[in-house]
Amino acid sequence: MKIIDVKTYSAVYPVKEPFANAMRWTRERPFGIVEVQTDSGITGWGEGAAVPPRRAIEAQVLGRDPFHTEVVWEGLHRMGTDPGAISAIDIALWDIMGKALGQPICNLLGGAFRDRVQAYATGLFRKEHADPTAALVAEARGYVEQGFKAMKMKVGFGPDYDLKNVAAVRRAIGERILLAVDANCGYDRGSAIAIGQRLAEHDLLWFEEPISADDVEGYGEIRRALGLRISGAEQLRGRWAFRRMLQERALDIAQPDVCICGGFTEFRKIAAMASANHVRIIPHMFGTAIRLAATLHLLASLPDSPRALEPFPTLLEYDMSENALRTDLATEPIRHAGGMVAVPRGPGLGIEIDREVLEKYA
Ligand SMILES: [Mg+2]
Repeated sequence: MKIIDVKTYSAVYPVKEPFANAMRWTRERPFGIVEVQTDSGITGWGEGAAVPPRRAIEAQVLGRDPFHTEVVWEGLHRMGTDPGAISAIDIALWDIMGKALGQPICNLLGGAFRDRVQAYATGLFRKEHADPTAALVAEARGYVEQGFKAMKMKVGFGPDYDLKNVAAVRRAIGERILLAVDANCGYDRGSAIAIGQRLAEHDLLWFEEPISADDVEGYGEIRRALGLRISGAEQLRGRWAFRRMLQERALDIAQPDVCICGGFTEFRKIAAMASANHVRIIPHMFGTAIRLAATLHLLASLPDSPRALEPFPTLLEYDMSENALRTDLATEPIRHAGGMVAVPRGPGLGIEIDREVLEKYA
């Protein structure tokens, strides 16, 4: 089998109700999508932080066997291609391999430890509300009513906002729901430690991206200063960036994103390095239906760590924000039921792309 064409799509979903994390307001959601065509008639779909440049596709992808994932990855990387763009091609190649073999990608990854994954609701952003606390409380209660047993809210807006709103959300959802917080790199070391010490009393599952991912030593310092699990690395590209984080003992939880770190091929290497360093993997997921499906196959393939009777949940980040490219791009949308999400069973990614939806936003 040979790759005969690669189509690239830059898709943008315009958000109707803008929302903010600690760094920026989101008014549109851009995604890079690729469609890799083979001479056997099998087509694979991939998503990345960007799409690869044409010259890289022509030099390293066209004419190759789609099973040669390592060769294609290495070729693209040697040409200086951003791993965020390599991700898109790599995911499409795994989709093709699965379709050619009639197997879901999780089987190609070594088999599924679970066929359903516990999801945590990602939402609770800052929005334009007259009473932000009341809006966050109502949103959090809504997630509990839908059956979620875990959720994550945004912090990083200063001690007044963070302490008041985390306390209000914790009070509203009760003690038994898992609650994580995410500062999206909005603090420096001193603020992260000072605010983290006060947030810790609300029984948090983890404190995500307290500071810039460039400050690797700072992560280690914050981790040793706080009685909280520290997570991060969602924007890191390639295994070498993760190596630094692991060497510095900077994280309790690494959050590689399959569409940013370099696709399935690179994610597996990062997961192996994390496992050897006793660091948990909880992938980042904030994208289209392609990223959601790819992340589910990876989550199916991660063993419990430790292998306890009541293991720490292997959690799917379930993005609750508005994005038609997540909810409508697959002809059969991937939905949660009572906070659980089934791993797609069909060959490859296990989803069919709705071309009308893709054309509408591309
Ligand atoms: Mg995050």
